[in-house]
Amino acid sequence: MIQVVGHTNPDSDSICSALVAAEWLKAARGMEAVAVAQGEVTGETAFILQQAGVEAPAICGSVAGEKVWLVDFTDLSQAPEGINEAEIVGIVDHHRLGDITTVNPLEAWIWPVGCSCTILFNLHKLENVEIARPQAVLMLGAIVSDTVAFRSPTCTEKDKQAAAVLAEIAGINLEEFCAQLMRVKTNLEGLNIASLVDRDLKKYPFEEQTLVVGQIEIASFEQTDDKIDELQAELKKRCEESSLRLAALMVTNISTSTTQLLFQGEWSSRLAEHAKEDGMLVMENTLSRKKQAWPWLQTVLAS
Ligand code: MG
Ligand code: MG
Ligand code: MG
Repeated sequence: MIQVVGHTNPDSDSICSALVAAEWLKAARGMEAVAVAQGEVTGETAFILQQAGVEAPAICGSVAGEKVWLVDFTDLSQAPEGINEAEIVGIVDHHRLGDITTVNPLEAWIWPVGCSCTILFNLHKLENVEIARPQAVLMLGAIVSDTVAFRSPTCTEKDKQAAAVLAEIAGINLEEFCAQLMRVKTNLEGLNIASLVDRDLKKYPFEEQTLVVGQIEIASFEQTDDKIDELQAELKKRCEESSLRLAALMVTNISTSTTQLLFQGEWSSRLAEHAKEDGMLVMENTLSRKKQAWPWLQTVLAS
């Protein structure tokens, strides 16, 4: 049995890609596969699952001794426990290549597109696998989420083409669906400060240290203005608890494409000259951690 798994603090793409890839492995390859997740789903993912009529994947424990297929990541720091004792048989991802290595040859589909589900859509075409409505909704939801309704600089023509076909299969009005999904994506109700930081937090190895960069997406800064102090305190706490040189959080206003980057830790001094105020800098025209914030941060932190 192959366990198909996305990254830690799973986003919609990690969940939807795992579910779709497991079905694709069964249909295209006749393999036994099951989707699992490294955590609970967000409200946004719950909305997509409900639209698709699909249950959330079970939470996985250690994958030691298991066959695994990775979706939406290739970084060890984002992998489940036991990954070094697991057999990685395949990868579907749209990030830079991370530090995963394998013992045996593997099947790796890594494309520079806006969403792992865009690759999966094309794999269905490649293997002549018909796409059922639930899978179409899952893939469409992930694509709209990851590309921030096609606004992110990570979005490519392939993502738009896939979404158009998937909306057709699912019988969904794409414009309405995008508006609905952006509303659930930016709804922070019921989330405490710690879960806002954890919502989309990623660990990155850097200069033999670990740092973390999270992201929350909002529709207006009014949603977070009164939470900034508490968020900063939480980031500071994470640095102390986990000996992190830097803990950062992108607060991204998807209506204006403006990101407030909050940061704490010893390496904050390296960002000081760019800061608007203590522990905060503003990035205009910035929606993407992968393509904009993280590459910039790596350059500035290294200099
Ligand atoms: Mg992801
Ligand atoms: Mg993704
Ligand atoms: Mg994302």
